[in-house]
Amino acid sequence: MITTTTLDDLKSRFCASDRMPLVFLGHGSPMNAVEDGPYSRAWRDLGRTLPKPQAILVVSAHWMTRGTTLVDVSAMPKTIHDFYGFPDSLYDIQYPAPGAPDLARDVAALLASHHGAEDDTWGLDHGAWTVLKFLYPDADVPVFQVSIDMARGLEYQLEIGKTLSQLRNQGVLILGSGNVVHNLQRIRWGAGSQPHDFAVEFDQVFADRLTQRDMAHLADPTALGALLQAAHPTVDHYMPALTIAGASDTRDDLTFMTDAIDLGSVSMRSFVFHSSE
Ligand code: ZN
Repeated sequence: MITTTTLDDLKSRFCASDRMPLVFLGHGSPMNAVEDGPYSRAWRDLGRTLPKPQAILVVSAHWMTRGTTLVDVSAMPKTIHDFYGFPDSLYDIQYPAPGAPDLARDVAALLASHHGAEDDTWGLDHGAWTVLKFLYPDADVPVFQVSIDMARGLEYQLEIGKTLSQLRNQGVLILGSGNVVHNLQRIRWGAGSQPHDFAVEFDQVFADRLTQRDMAHLADPTALGALLQAAHPTVDHYMPALTIAGASDTRDDLTFMTDAIDLGSVSMRSFVFHSSE
């Protein structure tokens, strides 16, 4: 859980800097959007401390492309209910924030070296809106998504983050949404189910290396070895964490929150990089 002391500390840091923080949230089940649980509460609490950005750029695990990094330039991104078999209450939710077409076009151009291109067909998938509705419940901050290129390796996502990092000085909050461990094949159902060893281990390796700012290790499948395969049979939920890691630099402090493993194999670990200057 995020403590009150941490929140107060974060708030004072945010006020002291013109550089926008970076946020990665483990989103887990879409049900978090309608449940009053530890995650939705932590996201709401975090939202109360964050500065109000000019715009939010979201990198979600659920917008996967191959060979391009797409940027949604639509004026009113639609709320996408990209899941099946959940209660009606979840399909009723809309997150009616405006887009940021001009900025999004600039971002597509900025990512030209990484096959950046404009798109107006996506919107906000549940990786984005299930957390945004708690961070900025009024939906009054322009928001747009950037896809993850699944044809490229992990290192590529660090580079994208590094390229995007300049936006922090322009009042843009970069939000990554995925999970630090995400293996749906190894889910253990039931409240309080024991985490798998691989889940605990990968989650800890990630936290340690991130704390050491050893981003190269985090993006090296050989160094991560079999643990990476166990934690991420596919890396879609890992990629956004690397985007955020790549956008950070030595001027940032790091705060972790909600570091629990859900359902045995989904890490809900979230983190914030905030300027120490
Ligand atoms: Zn997801």
